[in-house]
Amino acid sequence: MSRWLASRTTSTLGTLLRPWFGGIGCIVSLHRIVPDEGRSPLPQNRALEIRPKALRSILEWVSRHRFDVIRLDEIRSRLAEPRGAKFVCFTFDDGYRDTLTEALPIFRDFGHPFAVNVVTGFLDRTASAWWYFLEDVLARLNKLAFLWGGEPFAWAWTTPEQRVIAFSQIAALIRAQDALSRDVLLQTIAEAAGIDLLARTRELTLSWEGLRQLAGHWHVTVGSHSIGHHSLAQLSDEDLARELRESKTQIEARLGKRVQHFAYPFGGRESAGPREIEAAMQADYTTAVTTRCANLFKDHAWKLHALPRLTIDGNYPPLSLLTKLEAGFVPARSNGWKRVVTV
Ligand SMILES: [Zn+2]
Repeated sequence: MSRWLASRTTSTLGTLLRPWFGGIGCIVSLHRIVPDEGRSPLPQNRALEIRPKALRSILEWVSRHRFDVIRLDEIRSRLAEPRGAKFVCFTFDDGYRDTLTEALPIFRDFGHPFAVNVVTGFLDRTASAWWYFLEDVLARLNKLAFLWGGEPFAWAWTTPEQRVIAFSQIAALIRAQDALSRDVLLQTIAEAAGIDLLARTRELTLSWEGLRQLAGHWHVTVGSHSIGHHSLAQLSDEDLARELRESKTQIEARLGKRVQHFAYPFGGRESAGPREIEAAMQADYTTAVTTRCANLFKDHAWKLHALPRLTIDGNYPPLSLLTKLEAGFVPARSNGWKRVVTV
């Protein structure tokens, strides 16, 4: 994607093809709002982070171009009966503390709503935001060795480049596990490293009290992002249904509000396919969002459980990335020129 983002033809073609690929709305996917001093040293995690001033410039751009910033709750009716300007809906995944401390004040300044999709295991302090745990391992040590499945695994790093490679390789090993094995592997790594698996999760993600504060603002819609942040495609039918239903009922019980929206963990084709989409429908969600990259069209009214989003990767200039994605040419090209992207 980077070559196309850098190219000047992208902007020209984006403008020309906007009527065809721009759609009637879009859902923007964000994770963290992080001031300079808190930014991750690893590009893999920096992808999840944008600066407060970048969020402000995105919201200024949205106002300048007179988009309708809407709540997730309104998406169904806006797709069924398109009207007015192009709509945009902002979503924050995982439920980081900075959604409350950094994002909320900025959205309040602009008077715009947003949604936060939370992982109940993070709120309960039983599941690990392991990508930040792994960052800790790489920052505090310079080697890691453990036995897994009877095989020895070992990495050593001294330079930033070696850290990036080690992160990718260890993360790939973690993501390749099924649900139960993943948690055993994480515990094995935590013991080998002598680092608390949940320390960064406690530091970076919302507590139930923090979520209650967020949910108390009219700007905020709370959705579910599962219990354990597993790739749902790796789960049995029973575990899949449990991740969808129990996260929903737990958030509803804690907040005393209906939870109608779901965001698939990871959200790509390999983790959210037809079985997962059907399960989200069966679990009584009104909408569910993926991380397939595309704008929304009227036909998405019949695909409410497979809504694509425009993901802001913090390694690129956020506003410039959003304007290119929103114009539709870059996503359309990556989707084989398909307009209505679903599964
Ligand atoms: Zn997530």
